[in-house]
Amino acid sequence: MNYEFFDAHTHANLAAFREDYREVVQKVLDAGGGLINVGTQRDTSRRAVEIAREFPEGVYATIGLHPVHTSASFHDEEELGGGEAARAFTSRGEIFDSGYYKKLALDPKVVGIGECGLDYYRIGNNESEIRERQRTAFLEQMKLSFEVKKPLMIHCRDAFDDLITILISNPDFLIPGNPGVAHFFAGTKENAERLLELGFSFTFGGVVTFVRSYDEVIRMIPMERIMSETDAPYVAPVPYRGKRNEPLYVQEVIKKLAEIKGVSEEEMRRITVENVRRVFKI
Ligand SMILES: [Zn+2]
Repeated sequence: MNYEFFDAHTHANLAAFREDYREVVQKVLDAGGGLINVGTQRDTSRRAVEIAREFPEGVYATIGLHPVHTSASFHDEEELGGGEAARAFTSRGEIFDSGYYKKLALDPKVVGIGECGLDYYRIGNNESEIRERQRTAFLEQMKLSFEVKKPLMIHCRDAFDDLITILISNPDFLIPGNPGVAHFFAGTKENAERLLELGFSFTFGGVVTFVRSYDEVIRMIPMERIMSETDAPYVAPVPYRGKRNEPLYVQEVIKKLAEIKGVSEEEMRRITVENVRRVFKI
């Protein structure tokens, strides 16, 4: 199958799309695009796999435990819905269960492990304990990624020094040449350089259409290491700001990336699709 564009990191598997995920996905396929739904904990990971199985082509999944779900502090109705089960679940936090995730990881529609990583942005009390839980869950997911030979889908916020230290200290758990992707990269140029040396690729989303502070890093990253994403339902690109984001809107991101890189939109579509297919073996 040929793709016109690809949303390398989206969440049609979350509660925000419960009513209309099928239409939302079908719109992308009808426009010639493809997408990867990204799991964030047990239920959303399983859901990402289920949705991928519903469509013969163009819809893939990654499975994993997001760092914010390793502790009790985080609950977002857009993500898990507002039900009792969601509240009970998030009140205790999740311990990464390798057996559960490995079963999901072996599904042929699963193309990566994550989103996993570190997020020190929203941390409250018990900081050191929470950081430790996040680091442990991340290392477990590095091991799984290496074992099943599917690259990491990394989420990192305000924690690049620790993240890079873990990556460098555990080279045996990185897939040589293609360890994974730093999703919605928001680190420094130096962080990007370290990750490039380790073989990582990068995705950028809606924020690049209205915040200019990413331009310098985007110009620095080689063309063969850049991908487009939406992270829908979060952070819609211009001209959809303030609305629920959708994977179809990734085309606005590609337009902007082309402008920043000084290439045609056509070229940017082609290269981002090519990169997604190479990195995730699609
Ligand atoms: Zn995400």
